[in-house]
Amino acid sequence: MGGVLDNNIKFVTGVGEVRAKLLEKELGIVTLRDMLYHFPFRYIDRTRLYKIGEIDEHTSAAYVQFRGRMVGKAYAGEGRKRRFSIFVADETGQAELIWFQGIKWAEKRFEQGREYVIFGRPSLFRNSLSMVHPEVELVEKALSRKVESGLQGIYSTTEKLSTALGTKGIYNIMCNLWGVVRGHIDEYMPEYMRRKYGLLTLEEALYNIHFPQSPEKLRQAQYRLKFDELFGLQLNIQALRSARIERHDGFLFTRVGDLFNRFYNERLPFELTEGQKSVIREIRQDTISGQQMNRLLQGDVGSGKTVVALATMLLAADNGFQACMMAPTELLARQHYATISRMTEGIGARVAVLTGTTRKRERDAILAELAAGEIDILVGTHALIEDRVQFANLGLVIIDEQHRFGVEQRARLWTKNSQPPHILVMTATPIPRTLAMTLYGDLDVSAIKGLPPGRQPVKTVHYFESARLRLFGFMREQIKQGRQVYIVYPLIKESEKMDYKNLEEGFDAIVRDFPLPDYRVSVCHGKMKPADKEESMRQFKEGEADILVATSVIEVGVDVPNATVMVIESAERFGLAQLHQLRGRVGRGAQQSYCILMSDEKLSKESAKRLEAMCQTTDGFELAELDLKLRGAGDINGTLQSGVALDLKIANPTYDNQIVQLTQQVAIALLTADPQLAAPQHIALRTLRDRYAQRYGEDFSMIS
Ligand code: ADP
Ligand code: MG
Repeated sequence: MGGVLDNNIKFVTGVGEVRAKLLEKELGIVTLRDMLYHFPFRYIDRTRLYKIGEIDEHTSAAYVQFRGRMVGKAYAGEGRKRRFSIFVADETGQAELIWFQGIKWAEKRFEQGREYVIFGRPSLFRNSLSMVHPEVELVEKALSRKVESGLQGIYSTTEKLSTALGTKGIYNIMCNLWGVVRGHIDEYMPEYMRRKYGLLTLEEALYNIHFPQSPEKLRQAQYRLKFDELFGLQLNIQALRSARIERHDGFLFTRVGDLFNRFYNERLPFELTEGQKSVIREIRQDTISGQQMNRLLQGDVGSGKTVVALATMLLAADNGFQACMMAPTELLARQHYATISRMTEGIGARVAVLTGTTRKRERDAILAELAAGEIDILVGTHALIEDRVQFANLGLVIIDEQHRFGVEQRARLWTKNSQPPHILVMTATPIPRTLAMTLYGDLDVSAIKGLPPGRQPVKTVHYFESARLRLFGFMREQIKQGRQVYIVYPLIKESEKMDYKNLEEGFDAIVRDFPLPDYRVSVCHGKMKPADKEESMRQFKEGEADILVATSVIEVGVDVPNATVMVIESAERFGLAQLHQLRGRVGRGAQQSYCILMSDEKLSKESAKRLEAMCQTTDGFELAELDLKLRGAGDINGTLQSGVALDLKIANPTYDNQIVQLTQQVAIALLTADPQLAAPQHIALRTLRDRYAQRYGEDFSMIS
């Protein structure tokens, strides 16, 4: 593709310098191509004219169009609060049209007694219909206007843009744009592929995405454009993957030796679950294959990922390799170290821990031992990636809660041996498989299915503030039975001050209602010194405190099986993944556990849905899927902090899972047959591949 589509949008009729600047600033649109790929997010049937009386809560929130005769007007407010209303009516009812800006313009536009076609987003209050800043047109004019198609696209704009150029303005530009680009949209998909997968031509798809000639054509257009996006991504992912496999051999962990066997037979305090065993088998396969392992291990909170990690590290040690495990927080690193030390006691594995707070003398000793190959397993935080941390023979890297690390941080561990070590990244924030295939196509994905036996699902309820006394009563009851309670407060950068205030007030209230000597309360949050944090966690862990008041620092990984109650304050402010993680802190022992979501009475629709979902299911995968649906495709990047800028305009890997799977297969087959896309019928596909190449830049691959 080239030529016309690369031209600047300002030359299109109806745009010009000023609007072009706005389009660039607000939507990043510079060229005709950019504009062409600004798709509608919704369509309305412009041939449909509602009666005012027909517009109810089913139609509100969407855009509607209706006819109404002006019957009156009104002014209200002063200065910046000034508003202007026009009242219109038909035989079924009356509606109020409201302007806060452009009042002069609106005044001039209307004439008492004349009839208009009104288009916009209705809102209903006590059954009376109103519409802010609608588009209006005299009936005669609206009905005589030729429309490009019955289904009209609604384009997203921004606040700034919407005054200069509403969704209708964008639509008009799109019509003019089409006149310019028609016949200049080059196809890159080979004919045989289009036929095989039933794809419209690119030009037809782009035309119908903006101006659908029928609902069926619209569906086909969406399919083609989603196919292109996901196929473009896969072409890159699969190319990176084969390059990695070709470039690097994998260390061989062929021996199952003393360390592994003694751990398994003498130290492991429980039988592994089938889920854990099957993942260990997969890892075994990888580490004897001669190829370098790059595996993502998903397992719900509490599924027992730590033991799997440990077993794998012992395999490495049995074969003369060192292993390291990086955790996102000091707390978690220390906890892993404690667990691993306990589980390997007396079997001869040499284990050490290194974090930001490790004293110099101890650190120097560890670094020396590490370089001399005298340490088998090193657990730690970000401190592990520092340059001075040098291994004698690093064969395996494990990253816990991998979403907490940036791509670059992770990648620095890969280079700590001349040949990259095997890599296992673990996450308890499960993402649907097809999304994983899109985001992390370069990783093999395993999942630990099921939880260790004897776990009962955590009972979850949602309380409003008015139920606080009931909550306190319940807490007393549980503590009397010897159980422990977490109380967690949100902590968000933007509102940090207020959040700490809430936590402090909450803490004071708890201490008042749960006084010594019957109750012991500790507190743990990010502002405390690491040593104090650790001390208060220790107290809680060892049962010296009944209640732990904390911020979400305890979100990941903390393991206190005797804790049975998780109270989440202002639960509406947490995301689903976080709520699920927090809930995962309880229900780890044999006792029935409870999660209590406290919230304000006033809730947005989405918050209410999240809390409801939490009460209905404890399945992390189900929640993850729901979460993505609630958030919508646009938010996927932020959610997963994957380090990959997945700028999908139309495909949603959560919904479009069939296309994800299909395009992956197609990409693998194509690249196997023609890796460089050198065949004449494939050369044009490079356009598509390269469009997504930047997004998956070099460091997308775990190994660079
Ligand atoms: P996560 O997957 O969330 O990291 P952990 O590894 O912290 O989970 O394990 C959660 C708890 O379950 C720990 O107390 C651990 O000792 C225990 N556990 C792990 N595997 C088993 C098993 N197979 N049987 C019983 N308990 C187990
Ligand atoms: Mg864990």
